[in-house]
Formats: sequence, structure tokens, C-alpha cells
Amino acid sequence: MLHEAQGYARTLTYLSGDNLDIPPRSKAAIHEKRVIRVSVGGRSFTFFKGRDRDYFIVRRFFCTCKDFEFNVALRRRRPACYHLVATEVAERKGAVKELRLSTDEFYDIIYELILDGKSNTLRKLLLKRR
Ligand SMILES: [Zn+2]
Repeated sequence: MLHEAQGYARTLTYLSGDNLDIPPRSKAAIHEKRVIRVSVGGRSFTFFKGRDRDYFIVRRFFCTCKDFEFNVALRRRRPACYHLVATEVAERKGAVKELRLSTDEFYDIIYELILDGKSNTLRKLLLKRR
């Protein structure tokens, strides 16, 4: 647990800094507006719409992807996954896609992410509210 906590601290320091190495995949994701900030009941949360899977993100801190779990938090091979880098850069540039959700929609998205690894509700809402 301490080991993982140190990984998270390194992620925060790296993503708060000015020397971000921005992978091409992160740039593409920003361009395609796949970093999504949702607001629900006065709070906001971040999702990343991937090609096959979607992820829940806590800016500068946490992503639900396997790369984050293994290579960032556990093995500490990298300070961040490309989703977290994309989120940080998109937030700084104001290039985040914003979406207002009802509480039911938000819970549907969370359940789908947990059960299926991707959210059809999120994808439908993105198409509807373009
Ligand atoms: Zn990730």
C-alpha cells in the first residue's frame, strides 16, 4: 500500500509540472475530444472515452486503466498513463468536452464501466449532445 501511495505521489508531481512528455496517443485523444468532464449535482468528474474501453479519471492522480494499475501504481515504470497526460493537457488548454448529466445517467455510466469496461450510455449522450 505504501508502495502504491508513492506511485501516486510521483504521478501528482509529474502531472503538476511543466515538462510533460505528451505521447502521440494523448495528442490524438485531445484533438478528438475524448477527455470528458461531466457535471452532476454541482460536482464534476472526468471520463476518458477510449476506442474499446472507457475510463474513470481523477485528474493528476488516478485512472482505471490497466496501464495505470500495473505500470504506474505497482511497478512505477512511468509517472502516468496516456489518459492522465491527455486529461492534464486538455484541462490546461480548455479542450475538455463538457457534459451535464442527471444522477441516473451518472450511475448508469459508472455501473457500465465497472461491469463492461465501457459505457454505452456515455457514448449515446456524447452523440446526442454534440
Ligand atoms: Zn489510463
